[in-house]
Amino acid sequence: MFVRNRWVIGNWKMNGTLASNAALLESLSAPKPSVEAQSARLAVCVPAPYLNQTQRALGGTGVLWGAQDLSEHRSGAFTGEVSAAMLKEFGASIVLVGHSERRQYNAESSEDVAAKAAAAFDAGLTPIICVGETLLDREAGVAESTVAAQLAPCAALIQRAGAALVFAYEPVWAIGTGRTATPEQAQAMHAFVRSELASIAPNARDASILYGGSVKAANARELFGQSDIDGGLIGGASLVAADFIAICGSL
Ligand code: PEP
Repeated sequence: MFVRNRWVIGNWKMNGTLASNAALLESLSAPKPSVEAQSARLAVCVPAPYLNQTQRALGGTGVLWGAQDLSEHRSGAFTGEVSAAMLKEFGASIVLVGHSERRQYNAESSEDVAAKAAAAFDAGLTPIICVGETLLDREAGVAESTVAAQLAPCAALIQRAGAALVFAYEPVWAIGTGRTATPEQAQAMHAFVRSELASIAPNARDASILYGGSVKAANARELFGQSDIDGGLIGGASLVAADFIAICGSL
């Protein structure tokens, strides 16, 4: 039987200094037997200038790393952009695409997100494709249709990449707010995402789907215990080594 991969991924957002990162990376590089025993995948998505430091600290430890965004283009006159190939040169194996902060502050459309996810996948990176509704969407009863519309432009990629893709359901109202979706709310949307993926391509049913939004050590185990939740994408709590390690131990 196919076993879906379980992940805990830290998203540092635009935080860190060389000095503070060094301490955080050092604590992540220590062995975590309870997690390794389950072949879970641990990773951090760091600001691009810190990829070199992260590669040096985490290389050979089994903890993976990646970036928080990439260009959909391979190279050329795209000032300020970073390509998938550049991320690969620094050992990245994953990259976030479509995080709600990029959709909100950088006006990224779901078509942009799909192009970025395809660029990442074609370069050998695993895109972590983020989707999620706003509070207004949820209150208007359109949470599912919003998420379905965010997934739709990725259909061609989902058909060719299937279970190799990773998705993160992150309700916008739960990101950085301290307000977490209940395990029941999160499970219901994960089950919906999984059925949407399966309707696009049968083997995409086995894609990993992570929950993100104010996950903490205190709520991680219950969230990760839901049948369609394969781990978490962790923002604020990934900046505190003890908290992030405790969340990893909840897988
Ligand atoms: C995130 O940035 O993806 C996130 C889930 O943030 P937080 O855990 O701080 O809500």
